[in-house]
Amino acid sequence: MVKNSYEKLQKKLVDSKQSSWLSYTQKEKKEVFSLSENYKKFLAKAKTERLTVIEVVSQLKKKGFKNLETVKTIKSGDKVYKTFKEKTVIAFIAGKNLSDLRIIGSHMDSPRLDLKPQPLYEDSNLALLKSHYYGGIKKYHWVNNPLALHGVIFTKKGKQITISIGEKENEPKFIIPDLLPHLAQEQYKKPAAKLVEGEDLNILVGSIPVNDDTIKDGIKLAVLEHLNKEYGLVEEDFFTAELELVPAGKPFDVGFDKGLIGAYGQDDGVCVYTSLQAITEITKPKSTALALFVDKEEIGSTGGTGAEGFILRNSVIQFLQKTSCKENVDTVLEKAKALSADVTAGVNPNHKEVHDLHNASYLGKGVSIEKYGGSRGKYGTNDANAEYMNEMRMLCAKHKVKWQTGELGKIDIGGGGTIAMFMSRHGMDTVDAGPCVLGMHSPYEITSKADIYEAYKLYKAFFSN
Ligand code: MN
Ligand code: MN
Repeated sequence: MVKNSYEKLQKKLVDSKQSSWLSYTQKEKKEVFSLSENYKKFLAKAKTERLTVIEVVSQLKKKGFKNLETVKTIKSGDKVYKTFKEKTVIAFIAGKNLSDLRIIGSHMDSPRLDLKPQPLYEDSNLALLKSHYYGGIKKYHWVNNPLALHGVIFTKKGKQITISIGEKENEPKFIIPDLLPHLAQEQYKKPAAKLVEGEDLNILVGSIPVNDDTIKDGIKLAVLEHLNKEYGLVEEDFFTAELELVPAGKPFDVGFDKGLIGAYGQDDGVCVYTSLQAITEITKPKSTALALFVDKEEIGSTGGTGAEGFILRNSVIQFLQKTSCKENVDTVLEKAKALSADVTAGVNPNHKEVHDLHNASYLGKGVSIEKYGGSRGKYGTNDANAEYMNEMRMLCAKHKVKWQTGELGKIDIGGGGTIAMFMSRHGMDTVDAGPCVLGMHSPYEITSKADIYEAYKLYKAFFSN
């Protein structure tokens, strides 16, 4: 064969996925960038799971979704949603085939610093709050970074106070001061995991004492005085609090070409946003579209608001009861089809050694569809069926979705889970699909605008197919 025909053969036989950017038309590029602008706006507001619920519900309502609790009957084409404990949302669009479910599940919680139940103390002429980190973080990322405080706390009279400090220009921020390099010789000898330890994550919140030198811990008292004046709080109220410290500030573009986004909470805000967009843009689907937004993924999907709980099953029961469908919930869940919409690790050019580069996801090559995650020989994962993988490939081909595949990292070097295994245990076909990320779980996670767009396209195709 002449060289030319081998080139043809190569094109026909060899899988060589390229950057999505190479194939975009001007019109598509515009769509990619405009989706990202709206995504950044969403992310700037959705900084905690509670705040994300508020954003998700507000967008659902705008698009005509009604509260499931207040709706008496549901017929094909109807849009309803349900919230659970301010931390989980489920949205449905009743399909022509009511009991035929297509589910996309994402999670609204992200790694962060939670306050301890008795957080406030005074030390070295400063007032500080003690925190207990939530989810898998590299603790040294969280020092020397401006933090904002969000959450709720209750007064003794049962009044719920919502707190949000540190996002606006004129508001103070909070910070954990790191050790200066001049005195870090002993610190440098520690393994990275112990460079900053859990009990070192104490946040600066005050420095001016009450105006009386006979008062012990006058700076702590001044902080309490401020909280009392501003919100009516006393120290014991911290016992009730769910207050979370997250990196302060808004999402930003990265690079000369603005092709990337840097922001806190893209795991899994990027999938929350794109699957929300998908479900709010479809009308009268063949199958019932269900978008599931859960909490607690970062600590193992535990608890009532996590994917391990019964919220999905219970909500589907409630939904079915209001329709004409007489099928049993377990049968409905068993024959459902699902995407676990979550991020995966992209190849970081500074740390390529942790990936099998033949089986890794790259920023800009499309939405990543992964058969399995887990660790140590596929423990702790849903391992999707070959049949379902092929369905996904055909779906992407039909809707021109740019996709890639990979593994979370090299074998036995680590790993991680998603909610896929909790969805698939109902029997439904499930696979992980989402954009890949650099610096996952850090204060500034990085995604490609092209991958965000392709994830959105996949989710919309999945719902409308
Ligand atoms: Mn995730
Ligand atoms: Mn995560």
